[in-house]
Amino acid sequence: MPATLFISDLHLSGERPAINRRFFAFLREQASRAAVLYVLGDLFEYWIGDEELDAPDGDPLARKVAEAFGALSRSGVGVRLMHGNRDFLIGKRFCEVSGARLLDDPSVEKIGGARTLLMHGDTLCTDDVDYQAWRKVARSREWQREFLAQSLPERRKALQALREKSKEVVGAKPAEIMDVNDGAVREALRAHSLTRLVHGHTHRPARHELEVDGRRCERWVLPDWYERGGYLAIDDAGPRLVGF
Ligand code: MN
Repeated sequence: MPATLFISDLHLSGERPAINRRFFAFLREQASRAAVLYVLGDLFEYWIGDEELDAPDGDPLARKVAEAFGALSRSGVGVRLMHGNRDFLIGKRFCEVSGARLLDDPSVEKIGGARTLLMHGDTLCTDDVDYQAWRKVARSREWQREFLAQSLPERRKALQALREKSKEVVGAKPAEIMDVNDGAVREALRAHSLTRLVHGHTHRPARHELEVDGRRCERWVLPDWYERGGYLAIDDAGPRLVGF
């Protein structure tokens, strides 16, 4: 059976052409042989609206990524996309061009016969109270309506200001509060009565074992693509993390 592949936290942007090349090579080589490709958030460094795809001043990389996914989906590989904290404004138009199906966060999907809990991972970082407050604002209809009402150049400017602010905040925080909260992980597995969780966001690729209500559970954390990149593959032999 062809493998199911998981990637996240690629943070694609025009500023890191080497990673972009690795991404397109990954689509041609590994993903083209997969059954389904799951992208669990933060595919892009940021996404300010689907107009990037069609506007004359849109980002050419955005179009290129969406079209590469489009070719992959037309070749028979399922493409599933979950929002991350950077690209939660990816919408309908991106899905049309890419053939991707947008997944809720969290989602439960049957992978290799096992029901598996999929998340981006930011909602598990409950110790980061400031971030959770900001997330609530950014995911509200009101904030999104207001943001998307602006022109693309205005949105780019607004985003730049937000990012500078977040850089200051993130830099001042101890590393452990940026990781997942153990209780939040347990709660998520318990709420869905599942024993396997796959997520990204923390940039700490690993397999963790834990016991929830007497059941052995595993949590797979996907690698980011800032330095090396990689993916999780699940096939008949089980799950394995692959680094480049
Ligand atoms: Mn993230």
